[in-house]
Amino acid sequence: MQASIPSIPKDASAVILLRQNTDPADPEVFLVRRSEKLAFLGGFSAFPGGQLDASDAEVQVSNSTDAETAAAISCGARELFEELGVLVARGAESLTKGQRVSLLDDLESGRMSWPELIRHYNLRLDANDFTFVGRWVTPPFSARRFDTWFFLVNCPPKQEPKVIPGELSSGEWIPAGRAHKQWQRSEILAVPPTLHALKTIGDGLTPDLVKRFLAIPQTHREPVRSIEFRPNYICFPVRTPTKPPATHTNCYLIYNSREILLIDPGSPYEDEQQALAAAVDDLVREGRSVREIILTHMHPDHVGGVSSLLEHLGGGVKVAAHLFTAEPLGNTVRVDRLIEDGDVIELMGSTRIALRAMHTPGHARGHLCFYEERTGTLISGDNIVGLGSVLIDPPEGNMREYLASLGQMRALPNLTVIFGGHGPAIANPYAKLDEYISHRLEREVKILEAVREGAKTAKDIVARVYTDVSPKAHAMAERAVLAHLEKLEADGHVFNDQDGWRAL
Ligand SMILES: [Zn+2]
Repeated sequence: MQASIPSIPKDASAVILLRQNTDPADPEVFLVRRSEKLAFLGGFSAFPGGQLDASDAEVQVSNSTDAETAAAISCGARELFEELGVLVARGAESLTKGQRVSLLDDLESGRMSWPELIRHYNLRLDANDFTFVGRWVTPPFSARRFDTWFFLVNCPPKQEPKVIPGELSSGEWIPAGRAHKQWQRSEILAVPPTLHALKTIGDGLTPDLVKRFLAIPQTHREPVRSIEFRPNYICFPVRTPTKPPATHTNCYLIYNSREILLIDPGSPYEDEQQALAAAVDDLVREGRSVREIILTHMHPDHVGGVSSLLEHLGGGVKVAAHLFTAEPLGNTVRVDRLIEDGDVIELMGSTRIALRAMHTPGHARGHLCFYEERTGTLISGDNIVGLGSVLIDPPEGNMREYLASLGQMRALPNLTVIFGGHGPAIANPYAKLDEYISHRLEREVKILEAVREGAKTAKDIVARVYTDVSPKAHAMAERAVLAHLEKLEADGHVFNDQDGWRAL
């Protein structure tokens, strides 16, 4: 299988807005919640910001050292205005609230571009109003990647940020330290740059604030490896020969004070195996031991690094999986312990982590998901992914079982996050599950329609139904159609004879 290439990061800016006259010992920032409808990090807590527009570079920025920084500042200022209605520009202080609203309307309606608006109203962006506090690159496990400039900005007097509905669903002034504690209590989800900012500002507005921001290599574009969307759950994407557009498989390192569970070390590549081993070693060095390696299912991109990791960890560490994962793996990966539906794996140590195994076949017969009730965390393997689509490929794949498994996940009472086998965490779990279920059911209706209209083979059906899929993907689509046909047959809607598929 050929690995695909990660996408190139797009330039972007984010603004960390500090409240006027905030307590330097306990400073307040404006934290927003991204709309659950967004494909990228929907439901996450974040700072306002977005992608660079070509015209951002046309805006003059006083006191800027170079054109690249100027464009990033202009982008940050525009995004801040568009998303929160806060205009950080010299000259804006003489505008009334009503005038600012009408400016925003000019911009949003397209009557004026951002550079035109700045010129027309005699405004001036000044680099001194935007303190650079780092540049972060989205790791390559995401299809959408950004090279994001972060700026610290004081909220201008007499301006009050207000979330303009759209990309954001809400926002609030909150002491940075308190927001960081919310993350520690698993109440919010955030990406590493947001967490770093909350922690750094939460430690106080000291003279060395910027230095503390820039003290870690990730603020200088070094990609993050260990992503802790939620405390005690490290998502560690490793490069694998997986199904495009994914390029990586997420290994999860779940830990508390004493133990570590490792889920799906999937990379067959030595450099990636070494990086993962180093991350495990970091946790071990702090006094923990590896409890077990757990496999969600048998696909090569989820088990490819097991043997190497076992070798690195030395004797004693066991591998656990479902029987229907252990069987097909045979001698390639030795499974020492079988996990059944309902089994609970509880870590010994101070933070209570008890993962309940759910046998959820469909993508693979032995597929397991793991649910942690206290925090509402679901490790979903390849049943739900943060990137790309889930292939149901018979006979290992089974659409009827898959939909039943999705229903089982949908019925969990307290879901707050889904950690999938590929791509970023999913902070809108119920919306995502509904989308998965309705997508499959809509396809099923169309496939049944096609059969009723005379399509007899999976190939015919793909040509009629998968009009939105590139011909390159048709072979894979035929496998998915077959899975749907098998379900329709089991449900008593179609049958198959020498002439092909027909409706009942
Ligand atoms: Zn898989």
